Amino acid sequence: MELRIENLSKRYPNGTQALQNVSVNIPVGMFGLLGPNGAGKSTLMRTLATLQEADSGRATLGDIDILRQKDAVRRVLGYLPQEFGLYPKVSAEDLLTHLATLKGITSAKERKEVVRALLQQTNLSEHRRKALGSFSGGMKQRFGIAQALLGNPRLIIVDEPTAGLDPEERVRFHNLLSAIGENIIVILSTHIVSDVTDLCQAMAIIHQGQVRIAGNPSQLVEELRGKVWQKSITHADLATYQERFQLVSMRLFAGRTLVRVFGQQEPEPGFEPALPDLEDLYFATIKGFIHRSATGPVN
Ligand code: ADP
Repeated sequence: MELRIENLSKRYPNGTQALQNVSVNIPVGMFGLLGPNGAGKSTLMRTLATLQEADSGRATLGDIDILRQKDAVRRVLGYLPQEFGLYPKVSAEDLLTHLATLKGITSAKERKEVVRALLQQTNLSEHRRKALGSFSGGMKQRFGIAQALLGNPRLIIVDEPTAGLDPEERVRFHNLLSAIGENIIVILSTHIVSDVTDLCQAMAIIHQGQVRIAGNPSQLVEELRGKVWQKSITHADLATYQERFQLVSMRLFAGRTLVRVFGQQEPEPGFEPALPDLEDLYFATIKGFIHRSATGPVN
């Protein structure tokens, strides 16, 4: 099964072009949709989740036409939105049981078993009687995954799930997602580059409503080899470097400023070759230094 998106476009009534001819194929496994705030990620996720309409284009999940067969999509979809409301006084077990009823699991015995298994899978068994209002950010997100998994979905969409989680909670959440992503399509929408580095076999970078690059993260990064250079400079010189070179990123390191620059050859004496990473790819793409045609190499 594959999710195919072809030329999807969406303009909001206020004139914002949130999606512009978005085309991408998403295979089974974890797929990272990476882009800065305002890139169009949520618009795309909500469209795939049948919560809003596109203006034009197509999207299919196997033989389901996502834009037309909304009920069929909803039967196989699990969705964890950016913000989701929880009844603060209800326990995890009670709410999940209620949601299972809404999902159509009518047998009480089956419901009990499903809820037990999901709470265990998301590591929430010991907290099942606690009120959701007392849950930490990470526990809430894991509960969000538990409810998204009700009904054995074939497609799971998670929108910005790790924003606000502490490092330990993020690792737990990552482990949970990657276990799920072994058999079904999981789309992880995020502006956090390391979420994609850690988890995804396939990805796309979206910016200003357009897919700028798509493919396997390590292959894409590999194509940057020999094109990223670094140099330690004084902070006062930063503006000059910004003007003269294609500056990918800068970070402070031991009181100095370390700049990373994109270039086919050494930008000037004093630079050294840097091992490219996904963050380089991300910034070089967002800043327009590289682009990738449908089939050609990064250049
Ligand atoms: P992301 O999830 O990547 O942050 P969004 O899909 O939320 O991006 O937003 C894409 C663009 O569309 C942004 O410019 C945003 O301000 C705009 N936008 C999002 N929702 C609406 C809306 N309901 N009405 C008008 N503009 C919107």
